[in-house]
Amino acid sequence: MIFRVAIPTPLYRLFDYRPPIYGPETAEPGCRVRVPFGRREVIGVLVSLETESDFPLDKLKPALELLDTEPVLTADLFRLTSWAAHYYQHPIGDAMQQALPVLLRQGQPARFQHQTLWQAAADAAVDQLSTRAERQRELLSLLLEHPQGISTDALRAEGGNPTLLKTLADKGLAESFEHHPVLTHSDDRGADVLREAPLTLHDEQLAAVEAVNQAQGFTPILLEGVTGSGKTEVYLQAIQRCLEESKQALVLVPEIGLTPQTIARFKARFRVPVLALHSGMTDRQRLDAWLWAREGSARILIGTRSAIFTPLKTPGLIIVDEEHDGSFKQQDGFRYHARDLAIFRAREHDIPILLGSATPSLETLHNALSGRFQHLRLTRRAGNAKPPKFELLDIRQQTLDAGLSPPLLKRIHEHLARDTQVLLFLNRRGFSPALVCHDCGTPVDCTRCDARMTLHRQPPHLHCHHCDRQTPIPRHCAQCGSGQLRPAGSGTERVEDRLAVHFPDTPILRVDRDSTQRKHALERIMEQVHQGEPCILVGTQMLAKGHHFPRVTLVAILDADAGLFSADFRGMEKTAQLILQVAGRAGRADLPGEVVLQTFNADHPMLNTLVHAGYDAFAREELQLRRGGHLPPFAHHCLIRAEATRQGLAENFLLSLRELAQQQQLLPQGAQCIGPFPSLMEKRAGLFRAQLLLQAGQRKPLHQALAVLIGLMQAHPEARRVRWTLDVDPIDS
Ligand code: ADP
Ligand code: ZN
Ligand code: ZN
Repeated sequence: MIFRVAIPTPLYRLFDYRPPIYGPETAEPGCRVRVPFGRREVIGVLVSLETESDFPLDKLKPALELLDTEPVLTADLFRLTSWAAHYYQHPIGDAMQQALPVLLRQGQPARFQHQTLWQAAADAAVDQLSTRAERQRELLSLLLEHPQGISTDALRAEGGNPTLLKTLADKGLAESFEHHPVLTHSDDRGADVLREAPLTLHDEQLAAVEAVNQAQGFTPILLEGVTGSGKTEVYLQAIQRCLEESKQALVLVPEIGLTPQTIARFKARFRVPVLALHSGMTDRQRLDAWLWAREGSARILIGTRSAIFTPLKTPGLIIVDEEHDGSFKQQDGFRYHARDLAIFRAREHDIPILLGSATPSLETLHNALSGRFQHLRLTRRAGNAKPPKFELLDIRQQTLDAGLSPPLLKRIHEHLARDTQVLLFLNRRGFSPALVCHDCGTPVDCTRCDARMTLHRQPPHLHCHHCDRQTPIPRHCAQCGSGQLRPAGSGTERVEDRLAVHFPDTPILRVDRDSTQRKHALERIMEQVHQGEPCILVGTQMLAKGHHFPRVTLVAILDADAGLFSADFRGMEKTAQLILQVAGRAGRADLPGEVVLQTFNADHPMLNTLVHAGYDAFAREELQLRRGGHLPPFAHHCLIRAEATRQGLAENFLLSLRELAQQQQLLPQGAQCIGPFPSLMEKRAGLFRAQLLLQAGQRKPLHQALAVLIGLMQAHPEARRVRWTLDVDPIDS
C-alpha cells in the first residue's frame, strides 16, 4: 500500500509514502500522518491509499506515524476541503490544514484534555479521621461537598490543602479518577429544548419559519428582511425545530457580529449546549469545542468564517447571518468564501441553509431572483418599530465643522432635547486622514505605501493604516521646511473633539478600533448606551452592524459620498449595504427613527433610489448594470495579483503570463484578460503591486485554464522575484 498524503506546502501536489514501519498498512482517508519532508517532519492528511506511485517504491520513504484511528477530516469535511482547494486553486495540503484546529495541525491527539479529579471514597465520613487531623478533615469534607469530583486547583481555591490527598488516599478515604470535560446539560434530554418562550411570530416571520421547516433536503433560502424585522427570531425558531429533531445547527456570523449579546440571545432561548467559536479562545478550548461538535454534544455552534470547518455529527441546519458581509471571504492565503462553502456543505449534508440579510449580496440576490434559491422577505419591522425616515442633506453650500454641517448640529440638539440618543457614522478612524503643509501643499506620505499618513491625537502620532507604520508627528514640512503642517479632513477623533465643544453636557462615546482596544472597553460603552441616557455615539463600521440600540432615534452618516465614485465595480453595492446597515440602527424600538445622509451629491441617482425606493429597487438597477457590463454575478472573475520589491517587475511578470496564455490559447472562448494594471495603491508595505483580471462567462473552462496558468507561473524564470497569488471570485480589486 502507498499512502498519498496532502502536506501543507505551497506546492500543488500530493506526496507518496510507504506505510509506517511499525504501524498499520492501511488507514482511512482524513487521518493525519507524521511524515518526513525534506529535512523536516510535518503533519499531513492521508488523502488516499494507492497501489502504484510515479516514483519507484524503494525510493519512497516510510511515513513515521499514523496519528489517528478515526479521520479528523470527517468524510464531509474531506470533500469540502478537497472541493474548495480545487475551486479556489489553492494547494490542497494547506487547505486541509486550515480546516483543522491549531493543536491538530501540530500533531496533538484528537482527544479532550484529561484532567485528574478527586472524590471521597464510597462511605467515607469525616468521623473516620481523628479530631486532631483537622486539615485532613477539612479536605475530606470539601471532597464530600463535590460528589462529581473536583480538581486540585479547585480544591486549593476553596481553601483545601491538596498535598494531603495522598494521605487520605492511603487511608482509603479518597480516590482520583480521569475525567474529560463534558458538555451535557442535566436538562437537555427529551423534547423540551426551550428555556424561554419564543416570541409570537408576525405573519412574514411565520411564513419564513415554515418554509425552513418544510424544506426537504438541500434547500438554499435567502431571508431578505429589513433591519429590525426580526430575522434573528426566525433563526431561533428554525433552530428550535432542528433541535427537536435531535440535530445540530451551525450559525455563521460576520467578524463583528459575534458579540456577547448575540451569544446570550441563543443561550437564553435554549436548554441545549451552545458553543461560540471566538477569537478569545485558547487553542485548547478550540480543540475541545471541535471535539464537542464532532461528538454531537454541542448542539448550536456559532462562529465566524473559519467555523465553516467545524465537524458536525448530526447536521440539521446552517445559517449564514449578514450573508453579504465581506468578512466571510478570507483575504489572504486560502481565499475561500465561507458563505459559498456553507452552501456546498449544506448540499453535502442534504439540509436547508438560510442566508439572512437586510442587504443581500448581488450574487445571492441573483440566485434568488433566478429561482435557484428560495426567496423569503420580511418587509416590516417587528413589534411597534417603524421604518426610519431618510433625508439626503445637501452640504454643498454649508460650512462644515470637522465634517458636521449646521443643519445636522441643529438636528442633534433637537433629538438630545427629547432625551434620546444619536449615532454618527464616519468610516475613518484617527484625528485626520492627512497632515498637509499649509505653505506648499505637500502631505506627509507613508514611505512604504502610496498613501497618506493618518494623524492620531490619542496618543499623538502618525499612523499608516495600510502597512501599520507609525512615526512621531514631524514639526516641519519635508519639502519646504515650513512649520505650518495642518490636519486636513476629519476622522472620528476630530469629530469627537468638536462634538465635545458643541455638546458640553452630553457624553460622547467614540467606537472605533482605537477606542476599543482595551479589553471590555466596547462592552462598557455598550452598557452605557443601554442604560438609555442621552448620548452621542460616534464611530466607524464597528457601530454599523447587529447592535440593537432602542433609544437611538437619529443616525447621521457624515460622509455618504465615500465609496460613491470608487474604481471598484462593487463600490456602489458596498456603499449601499453600509448605509442601510448603519441606518438600521435608528428607531428600532417604539421611538421613531430618522436618518440623515450628508452628501455633496444629493441628486446622485443611485443614492436617491436607495433612500427613496429601498435596497431592493437599488439592487435590481445595479443588477441590470452588471448584466449589461458582463460583470459578476453574470460573469466569473479570477484575479492574479503579483508583487515585487522593484517597480515594474510584477507588471512585466503578468504581461508575459498574459502573452504565454494567448500564444498557447489557454483561455476559453469568450474569456478576457483585463490588464495587467498596477494595483489601485501600487506601492504598499514596500512592495510594488500589479494585477491581471481574468473574466469569463463560464466558470469551468476558466478554472481549467487557471490550473495551467499556475504551472506557467511556477515555471516562470521571474517567479523567484515576484510573489503571485490567485483570488477566485475576488470581492476587492
Ligand atoms: P433583525 O435581526 O432583523 O435586525 P432582530 O431579530 O434583532 O431583527 O429583531 C429586532 C427586534 O424586534 C428585537 O428586539 C426583537 O426582540 C423584536 N422582535 C422580533 N420578532 C418579534 C415578534 N414577532 N414580536 C415582537 N417583537 C419581535
Ligand atoms: Zn511644505
Ligand atoms: Zn504604509
